[in-house]
Amino acid sequence: MSAICIPRWLRPPLFSVSMLITMAVVYFTYFDEAWNMSEGDRAIVRVNLPFKKPLLHHPKGAAYVRANASIISLVRNEELDGIIQSMRELERSFNSKFNYSWIFFNNEPFTDEFKRRTRKETNGECHYELIPPEHWNVPDWIDHNKLEESLHEMRAQGVQYADKLSYHQMCRWNSGFFYKHPALKGIKYYWRVEPDVKFYCDIDYDVFKFMEEYNKTYGFTINVYDDPKSVRSLWPVTQSFLDANPQYLSRDNSLLWLTDRKRRPGRYDEANGYSTCHFWSNFEIGDLDFWRSEAYEQFFEHLDRTGGFFYERWGDAPVHSVALGLFLDNEKIHWFRDIGYEHPPYINCPNLPSCQACQPNLFTHSWFNYEDCRPLWFHQVCESRRRKGLDDEGMCMIAHSLRKYHD
Ligand code: GDP
Ligand code: MN
Repeated sequence: MSAICIPRWLRPPLFSVSMLITMAVVYFTYFDEAWNMSEGDRAIVRVNLPFKKPLLHHPKGAAYVRANASIISLVRNEELDGIIQSMRELERSFNSKFNYSWIFFNNEPFTDEFKRRTRKETNGECHYELIPPEHWNVPDWIDHNKLEESLHEMRAQGVQYADKLSYHQMCRWNSGFFYKHPALKGIKYYWRVEPDVKFYCDIDYDVFKFMEEYNKTYGFTINVYDDPKSVRSLWPVTQSFLDANPQYLSRDNSLLWLTDRKRRPGRYDEANGYSTCHFWSNFEIGDLDFWRSEAYEQFFEHLDRTGGFFYERWGDAPVHSVALGLFLDNEKIHWFRDIGYEHPPYINCPNLPSCQACQPNLFTHSWFNYEDCRPLWFHQVCESRRRKGLDDEGMCMIAHSLRKYHD
């Protein structure tokens, strides 16, 4: 009688190993989407968030009068291909219908090639603006030895871009200077665009007129956590500003969102009391008058004097977000859920028929899905709207589905 011969890979221990490999392959092949989804993605899918298209009272037509607005972009000459990609995306999805002007900013003069090639991409006017050195240069009261030391230390801690001085200058300019550029004098609304971004949805209404009619001050698409090592003293410095200027704190502020500890205590502790949640400012549609306000101007001055843009690596996103969350009524901040947008590694992709080429509700293709701060924002909006008896735009449905974090 001959024994049945079982191949080695079907016998323990090889069998268990091959089963594990097979299961992993099946999981990553068929459940990849679920694996990539953040908690915010899941909540949005679960409640099937309703969407109301904004109604505007400004019909398009021959006599169309644009809002007082411009598309603005800080960009380097060497990022020409990247900005052309972004222009094509935005012109196709929005601006070819409205022809808003583009204003490009640079700390160095734009080349003729840059001007020639960007002009070809739009029917709107193009302006090329040099940043005054006093808006860009490292201020003379920055201590260079301390700066060197700080950059070195942040590099050792792995803070992204920490040792790139121009990145610090860029963040400071975007925080406290872009709106002071003479080219923006008299302009009210702006849409900030960076190189190499994508716009996935057809936008058939004028977003600037939307801001005007719905009385919004700031619009965002993506809302994420930050590296607390880059903003260690931002919150303590902000608190000292608020202690001295309590009159600037809005009644309907977004402090729940700014100071939540429950969801990510590690972030909160390392950032000394700041959740690190922020609007991702590579996309912004905003009212310049907010940045020109006395509250923001004094806040920026207070921050700047501490040197935190250089001794730490404060991004313009957390600086903008902290100010918006403190000084503005929550209802003035709008999530442009319907604007499909990608700046790697994060995406805003609504489940709407007007959107193509992005995966609905998927926040990232990478492993950073725990960086999604939208659940906390939904909670904040829900609480604020409920307190004021306003329409919460479906945010309470999501917030309730995530209730375990907030009780
Ligand atoms: P990230 O999005 O944080 O990875 O940073 P980016 O490299 O995209 O920079 C943010 C924005 O600032 C982009 O629009 C860049 O083109 C712009 N930028 C960054 N550094 C400089 C600089 O030194 N000069 C100019 N003109 N633009 C810069
Ligand atoms: Mn960028």
